[in-house]
Amino acid sequence: MLKLMRAPSKYVQGKDALLELYDHVNDLGKSFLFICSKSGFKAAKPKIEKSFDGKDAKIMFEVFGGISSTGEIAKMQKIAKDNHIDVICAIGGGSAIDTAKATAYYEKLPVVIIPTVCATDAPCTGLSVIYHDDGTFSNYIFYPKNPDAVIVDSSIIVNAPVRFLTAGMGDALGTYFEARMCLKTNSPSLENGGITKSAMALCELCYDTLLENGYKAKKAAEQKVLTPAVEAIIEANTYLSGVGADNGGLATSHSVYNGFTALEECEKTMHGELVAFGTLAQLVLENAPMEEVEEVMDFCVSVGLPVTLAEVGVTDKTRVMTAAEKACAPGESIHNMLGDVTPEQLYHAILAADAIGMEYLGK
Ligand SMILES: [Zn+2]
Repeated sequence: MLKLMRAPSKYVQGKDALLELYDHVNDLGKSFLFICSKSGFKAAKPKIEKSFDGKDAKIMFEVFGGISSTGEIAKMQKIAKDNHIDVICAIGGGSAIDTAKATAYYEKLPVVIIPTVCATDAPCTGLSVIYHDDGTFSNYIFYPKNPDAVIVDSSIIVNAPVRFLTAGMGDALGTYFEARMCLKTNSPSLENGGITKSAMALCELCYDTLLENGYKAKKAAEQKVLTPAVEAIIEANTYLSGVGADNGGLATSHSVYNGFTALEECEKTMHGELVAFGTLAQLVLENAPMEEVEEVMDFCVSVGLPVTLAEVGVTDKTRVMTAAEKACAPGESIHNMLGDVTPEQLYHAILAADAIGMEYLGK
């Protein structure tokens, strides 16, 4: 397997970054379609209009339906065609981003990602999750390249609800441990390549950045103030986690997330929160040293990420086997673990992780 490294062509981050949007994207075309979430539209539109004011470029905004579904993508493709759009832009969270990436791919246009929350690592990756119009999972699309530009306005991110930032830290927490396992077992990355030293370095930096800045960033974000720690966490959640996972691969943490989507009691739990709990299950499965388990637990508790089943919404433990079975379905990234993991082994690891977490919380 050849080693492979991919990333967005350009990454820009900082206070009021959107005021300079035109300068960073004008090389891509003359007419821009912004596919927006409702809240993203409100947060970003005034700054984007200001940035494009008086410039030789056309901009239009479309608020999309809320899920990255086949129907929604077809609708955006038509708008892009009818208006002779040169560049597709996403404004919002994971769904707006996935809709825009797919629209751009089918229309063979460049794509610019403007996240307005950093709850997941979607902005920098080269793939999308696509749903049917009724909201059920349809398929993944793996793109030949990562986004042309990712522009992160930290002022907008820090004004979003803090839970998004924390969930993003949970998604980023899995990155190092999942990549470390893929490297150990010679499993391919999400881009189906061998894992480079560069990718591993980013994954390690991702974890170190979380440990060093997570708590400080959460406290600052609660006050809606922008500090170096908040900037560090935005970069970890968005760039390090996205490029790290893309080029480092996934293992148990993300399969646990997929498994728990089978339980309706977990519906309100965010992706990154389940990935964090899944990381604890992975550490139990690989029998990681206790110091490492404690380091991860300390981090989770300090920023408010779940360490028990109750915190992810599960009160009836007999339900966990259903999630474990789904997490171990063929094709799941849990099969990148050393040895093969059976649903029963994962079930046991989850219960053990829960027991450690309960004691940790003093329950
Ligand atoms: Zn994720």
